[in-house]
Amino acid sequence: MNRNYLLDQLAETHTLTGEEFIELLTHPDAALQAQAARLAVQTTQQYYGNKVFCRGLIEFTNICQNNCYYCGIRAGNDNVQRYRLSDAQILQCAAMGYQLGFRTFVLQGGEDPYYTDDKICQLVQQLKHNHPDCAITLSIGEKSRESYKRYRQAGAERYLLRHETATPAHYHKLHPLSMSAENRYNCLRTLKDLGYQTGAGFMVGSPGQTPADLARDLLFLRELQPEMVGIGPFIPAAGTPFAHENAGTLDETLFLLSLIRLLLPEVLLPTTTALGTIDPRGREKGLLAGANVVMPNLSPKNVRAKYQLYDNKICTGEEAAECIVCLTKRIESVGRELAVDRGDNVRYTKTKEDPYCV
Ligand code: SF4
Repeated sequence: MNRNYLLDQLAETHTLTGEEFIELLTHPDAALQAQAARLAVQTTQQYYGNKVFCRGLIEFTNICQNNCYYCGIRAGNDNVQRYRLSDAQILQCAAMGYQLGFRTFVLQGGEDPYYTDDKICQLVQQLKHNHPDCAITLSIGEKSRESYKRYRQAGAERYLLRHETATPAHYHKLHPLSMSAENRYNCLRTLKDLGYQTGAGFMVGSPGQTPADLARDLLFLRELQPEMVGIGPFIPAAGTPFAHENAGTLDETLFLLSLIRLLLPEVLLPTTTALGTIDPRGREKGLLAGANVVMPNLSPKNVRAKYQLYDNKICTGEEAAECIVCLTKRIESVGRELAVDRGDNVRYTKTKEDPYCV
């Protein structure tokens, strides 16, 4: 099979078979990766122009009841100093973010039972009340349909839940038996069904991952049609069963970003902090591979270093205002511009009659 032909076909039809994806993903050379990046950037420009959207990340609790083998804040890691932000601190982070120009806030945390549905709904309502022109995104793990529905009715419009891997056997290499791949996939389908702008995603280079697993991830994304996809390289975290595994590579992550852009042309695609952690210009390179979102941290400086999903995470020492100045320069250095708006998926803005709109 001619691999350049496969890329052109993907750019045109936004689909390939599993075998064709495996062909692309097995030892891609630099020329193929460069061609994928060119096509991906063209596609991004077609739907979103030069804009790069910004989401303000508030990591409000690093307490989690789960034990994912790759995660630095897993319940079994006794070396983590645990914290929860108070409601007042969370609202303050958002207020400061609003002044800096953020119009989307992402509330991210471990699966922390302290945060009942009532507490989450109150927080969302308060944030919506304070900033009615902002989008509220939740990233708090697997919940029941009823809970997701309540958050939606409270005003949350977006939800991020990486599927991690679309291969159930691989899922069980990454998670304890108490966690279910099927439940995770069903959560994502429920979120879509409830009208959330939904974000799925996975780590690149996680232990045991094969090109066939990645091909299944791409097919899963095509079926789910998420509005956002978050991917980043796997980076080992101290105090976890995978502490001594090899990290995923920059090149493979960039190639996957390009393929995802071609597969889902309208998708919102972050260039992640994990990319910036494995390469000093990783986030800029992500933009040059088809990404169009950045997610700087708005959490208070004194808790940043405690939210380490992986080792050596960058941007744990800066204030949010410093982060935004630094990111703006990075974005401009690759000829793009930071957008000050909610940054909805174009498909959503064109078609959505939102039944839960508050
Ligand atoms: S990946 Fe998420 S669910 Fe798993 S242990 Fe970490 S915070 Fe908890």
